Amino acid sequence: MPEAPKIVALEVSNESLAEKNKNKLQFIEDVTTNADDVQKRVLEEILSRNADVEYLKRHGLDGRTDRQTFKHVMPVVTYEDIQPEINRIANGDKSQILCSNPISEFLTSSGTSGGERKLMPTIEEELDRRSLLYSLLMPVMNQFVPGLDKGKGMYFLFIKSESKTPGGLPARPVLTSYYKSSHFKNRPFDPYNNYTSPNQTILCSDSYQSMYSQMLCGLCQHKEVLRVGAVFASGFIRAIKFLEKHWPELARDIRTGTLSSEITDLSVREAVGEILKPDPKLADFVESECRKTSWQGIITRLWPNTKYVDVIVTGTMSQYIPTLDYYSNGLPLVCTMYASSECYFGVNLRPLCKPSEVSYTLIPNMAYFEFLPVHRNSGVTSSISLPKALTEKEQQELVDLVDVKLGQEYELVVTTYAGLYRYRVGDVLSVAGFKNNAPQFSFICRKNVALSIDSDKTDEVELQNAVKNAVTHLVPFDASLSEYTSYADTSSIPGHYVLFWELCLNGNTPIPPSVFEDCCLTIEESLNSVYRQGRVSDKSIGPLEIKMVESGTFDKLMDYAISLGASINQYKTPRCVKFAPIIELLNSRVVDSYFSPKCPKWSPGHKQWGSN
Ligand code: AMP
Repeated sequence: MPEAPKIVALEVSNESLAEKNKNKLQFIEDVTTNADDVQKRVLEEILSRNADVEYLKRHGLDGRTDRQTFKHVMPVVTYEDIQPEINRIANGDKSQILCSNPISEFLTSSGTSGGERKLMPTIEEELDRRSLLYSLLMPVMNQFVPGLDKGKGMYFLFIKSESKTPGGLPARPVLTSYYKSSHFKNRPFDPYNNYTSPNQTILCSDSYQSMYSQMLCGLCQHKEVLRVGAVFASGFIRAIKFLEKHWPELARDIRTGTLSSEITDLSVREAVGEILKPDPKLADFVESECRKTSWQGIITRLWPNTKYVDVIVTGTMSQYIPTLDYYSNGLPLVCTMYASSECYFGVNLRPLCKPSEVSYTLIPNMAYFEFLPVHRNSGVTSSISLPKALTEKEQQELVDLVDVKLGQEYELVVTTYAGLYRYRVGDVLSVAGFKNNAPQFSFICRKNVALSIDSDKTDEVELQNAVKNAVTHLVPFDASLSEYTSYADTSSIPGHYVLFWELCLNGNTPIPPSVFEDCCLTIEESLNSVYRQGRVSDKSIGPLEIKMVESGTFDKLMDYAISLGASINQYKTPRCVKFAPIIELLNSRVVDSYFSPKCPKWSPGHKQWGSN
C-alpha cells in the first residue's frame, strides 16, 4: 500500500472532525433556540405513535396530541402509580400497554421502590437518543480545551450484573445496557472516544479483573492520557484507592510485560496483551511515585498530560470534591452531563466552571419535559420531601420547559418515547440561566434522600424501618434506643453509613459487643437492594457503623440547633446530619463504636423473581 493516503486520511479526518464539531454545536444552537417548537413536536410524536396504547386510551386521550388536552387528561404519576403496568410487562405481557414499540429491556434505576430497584421500560431507539447526547459532549469540551483529539481518555467504566424478568426481558443498569450495545462496542473510530481501556476490559463482569486491567492499560499509556474520569466521583476515587493497594503488582506486570495470573478472562488477557510490553523504566517510575508517603497530586504525577477530571460532582457527589482536589492537585473537575434510566436529560455547556456553578441545559429532543414548582420552607433541610400524590391544583401548576422562571426550584417531570407519561423523576432542579430559549438547571437534590455513598439512595423512612428492626436485639437486655441520627462518612474509602445511637439502659446485664454488631447487620439487611449491592458486589460501600454516644448528647444537639435559630417548639431530631460542626459535636461524645461484621445478603434481580 502506498504511504501517502495515510496522511491524507488523517487530514481529512481532522477536517471532518472540525466539521462534525461545528454541526453538533449548531444542533445545540438550533434546538435551544426553537426549544418550544421542538418540545411541541416531541410530544406530538410520542402521543401520535402511542395513540393506541392501553394506558393513554384508559385515560381518555383519544388520539389527541396537543399539550392542553394532554395536561388536562393525563395524571402526573410516580413509579408506584404505574407499577401494575410495569409488572405486567415484566411478567411477559407483550400487548401495547405503555408503548407501541416493543419494550426491549428494563433499565434498573438506582432509585428504589419497596426496597427494590425501579424498572424503567426502554425501547431500542432510545440508544440513538443516548448516543446523540454523548456525541454533544466533546464538541462542547473542545471549545474550552483544544487538542483533546491528540491523545486518549482514561475512563474507568464498568458493567454491573444483570438479570431477566420472568417474561424474559433483560433488567440491567442503563450504562451496562449502553456499554453492551453495538452503539458502544462497534463505535466507529473517533479521536474523541479513544480510550485507554479496551472494550473487553470494560465488558468484563468480574469487577476486580475489570479494574485491574483498566488501571494497567491506563498506566502503560500514561503519556497519551489527556483526560481521566469515571461516571461518578465515587467511582473514580475507588480507582485511585485500587491503585494505592495494587501498585506493586501492576508495576511488576509492567516490568515483565506479563499480565498477572489473577486475570483469567481470556478476552481481557488478549486485549491487554496488545498494550502491555516489558517496560522497566515505566515500572520504576510508577513504583517511585506510588511509594512516596504523600499521594497528593498522584493523578498529575502519573498521568502528567492530564488536563481535567471528568466525573459528576454535583448532587450528593459533591462530598468527594476535596478528595478529588487532593489527588488531582486541583485540576478542573468537569461535570459533562445529566442523565437517568428514565431518559438522558442534558449537557453542561460551560464544562470548566466551578462544581458549585454547574448547570445543565436540557436538550429538548430527549423527551417532553414539565416542571412542578417546589415550595420549600426556608431553613436547614438535609433532604427535601415532596408530596406523593398531587392535588388537582398542583397538577395545574406544572409549567413547560420554556416557561420556567429564573431562580425558581422545580421537580422534573418527563414524558418519554419509551412509555412514561408525566412521570416524576424525583430530582429537584433550580433555574440558573438560559441558553437561547432553553433553561439551564443546577441540580439541587434528589427528593427524600438522606444517605448516599455511591449510587445508593436511602431515605428517612427506610432508615427508620431498618433501625426499628435492629433495636429488637436490645429487648432482652431491657435497653431501648432513645434517639438516633446518621451521616454518610466519606472520609475513608469506601465511605460508609454511620449511625449515632443514644441508649436508655434499664437493665443491669451488660450488652455484649456482638449484640451491637448484630444491630449493624440487621440495619444493612433491611436497607434497599442498591445499598446491599454496593456492599456485596461493587464493594463501593464499607461496613455500617454504630457509634454509641453518651447520655444527654441529643439534648446538646437540640441546644446547638436552637442556638442556630431552630424553633424550640418545632424541633425534631434530624435523622441525618451533614453540617460539619454537628458531626463534630456528636463525634466528641462517642463512647463506643461497632461495625457490621459481614456483608448483608444480596443477589441480582428482584426479590419477587426468585433466584434468576
Ligand atoms: P439512575 O436512574 O440510577 O441512572 O440515576 C439517575 C439519577 O442520578 C438522576 O435522577 C439524578 O438523581 C442522579 N444524577 C444523574 N446525573 C447527575 C448529575 N449530573 N448531577 C447530579 N445528579 C445526577
